Amino acid sequence: MKIGVLALQGAVVEHIDMIEKAGGEGVIVKRTEQLPDIDGIIIPGGESTTIGKLMRTYGFIDALREFSLQGKPLFGTCAGLIVLAKEISGQEEAHLGLMDIRVARNAFGRQRESFETDLDIKGVDKDVRAVFIRAPLIEQVGSEVDVLATYQDQIVAARQGHLLAASFHPELTDDERLHAYFLDMVRESR
Ligand code: GLN
Repeated sequence: MKIGVLALQGAVVEHIDMIEKAGGEGVIVKRTEQLPDIDGIIIPGGESTTIGKLMRTYGFIDALREFSLQGKPLFGTCAGLIVLAKEISGQEEAHLGLMDIRVARNAFGRQRESFETDLDIKGVDKDVRAVFIRAPLIEQVGSEVDVLATYQDQIVAARQGHLLAASFHPELTDDERLHAYFLDMVRESR
């Protein structure tokens, strides 16, 4: 099973390591031509405006919408979650606009720029390690969206069919359980 990591900007190698640890084959994706060969893709954390701009420049907006239409799973972490969202609070334009969620960027405030915690994630496990860095949160979800995890009553992980999103960085821990869950989604989709 080949899992791509979109490598335009952000935390890429750590995701590749986690994919391999969870039993998949990690592929660094820099060109849209690689997508037909890939079974699922992770959009990593970084800076969503930059990632979105580069996606437009390199044709990834249309290519990943097509990828999604084929039913291939996408997993957005942190900035990647923002990229997947249909709506970004206070911003006119979305990026991929695939997932029926409204997100708020940098939602945890300055005093909590980054922190680590353990989360209970539905369908995954209890006490899954999560690193939050200038993290977004999910303010609103559509009826097709399943909330997987909350932190202090705020939604920080969700799934809509073949789309998975997390506010945090699961790749910056040594806990590969959320990646294993995504690999299961990819397996089911084939
Ligand atoms: N704050 C970033 C953004 O809004 C996301 C941060 C991250 O991916 N760690 O794009």
